Amino acid sequence: MNDLGNKSTETICELCQIELNRLAEVELITDEEMDILEQPNRMVSANLEVKMDDGSVRTFPSFRIQYNNARGPTKGGIRFHPSVSQDETEELAFLMTLKCAVVNIPYGGAKGGVVVDPSQLSEQELERLSREYIRAYHDVIGPKKDIPAPDINTNGTIMGWMMDEYERIEGEKSPGVITGKPPKLGGSKGRTSATSLGGAIITDLFVDDQGWDNKNTDVAIQGFGNVGSWLAKFLHERGYNVVAVSDVAGAIYDPNGIDIEALFDQYEENGDLFEMDGVDEIGNDELLTMDVDLLIPAAIEDQITEDNMEDIQASAIVEMANGPTTPTADEHLRDRGIPVVPDILANAGGVTVSYFEWLQNISYEYWNKEKVQKKLENYMKDAYKNVKEKQNDEETSLREAAYLRAIDRVKAAEQARGR
Ligand code: GLU
Repeated sequence: MNDLGNKSTETICELCQIELNRLAEVELITDEEMDILEQPNRMVSANLEVKMDDGSVRTFPSFRIQYNNARGPTKGGIRFHPSVSQDETEELAFLMTLKCAVVNIPYGGAKGGVVVDPSQLSEQELERLSREYIRAYHDVIGPKKDIPAPDINTNGTIMGWMMDEYERIEGEKSPGVITGKPPKLGGSKGRTSATSLGGAIITDLFVDDQGWDNKNTDVAIQGFGNVGSWLAKFLHERGYNVVAVSDVAGAIYDPNGIDIEALFDQYEENGDLFEMDGVDEIGNDELLTMDVDLLIPAAIEDQITEDNMEDIQASAIVEMANGPTTPTADEHLRDRGIPVVPDILANAGGVTVSYFEWLQNISYEYWNKEKVQKKLENYMKDAYKNVKEKQNDEETSLREAAYLRAIDRVKAAEQARGR
């Protein structure tokens, strides 16, 4: 494991710098607040050596970045993806810091990642890679230090292997070291669908504020992975008209609303959107620029960019992916009066139920699904209310308001520590 140290402020991750600068320019944050958030606490990297099934050894670069720990142990997922980089991991760790502060759970923010295409690995290779990640980072993680969780291409099975590896090294049980585990290993009820349920709760509050009716609200969702598929299901149950969904292979469209129940079951079975009857096939780009009430990017970052921002026709955007709108596109949408519900609010349901999982683990309790979902609803409603109040007080966008709310809390913790 290599300590990457802190980078100079000139090379800080682009998104973090742009967002902070924007707030500083309009004098919404002070130099002191800039200083606190400009640099991560700790960045570590390791080249993970994994024995492949054919006997060869491959090396996978990996990272763990703990951005700010003033509010508690750092928290954030581990991503397995070919595009993982130190900069991306840093941006995501910065966003986790703000996300945990927005929903007011007692954590700082972190993120991890491995540069790998997991679809090219066998199950055994994936397990060896997951265990190797923990062997590399076990010194810097722990239930009171830094608590990983799933992110893109990682799931409960992988969290289970990782917890097991950590416990082997430590020589004691420690289920609170990682969240998003299978319920058999101390995972929380409702964790798998938590990001989406949180998103549906926030969407309801936002739609209500716009004076719209769920039943007349047309929605297009980009991404039909864990987050997108559960969100489609929750919104469909709440009466929204989900007219389009997509995955990597393309998108399907039905102006009268897709039967999401049927699609969900079918997709689980064969992983193919296009098997669905009575829908039109369209391209992913077309989905992003459709004339709908709500566009919900729920896949990966950098989807609404300089290239397509002028073609966006949606009346509002709810960000379920992390960082789906680039700063330039965000500014453009703001100028056009298209509201964006930011990722650090809209998708915070996942880390909130991760917090509930950790609470259950460290107190040796198990909560039922109703309790988890009720508590999630309370946290999401409070967060939305807090951000809205800030938006009204400061006359800002929802994103700025969410940033400001979060930064207030991080700064208060830093000050109380006397840092
Ligand atoms: N990866 C998720 C996120 O970006 C969850 C993180 C967690 O549960 O710690 O919010």
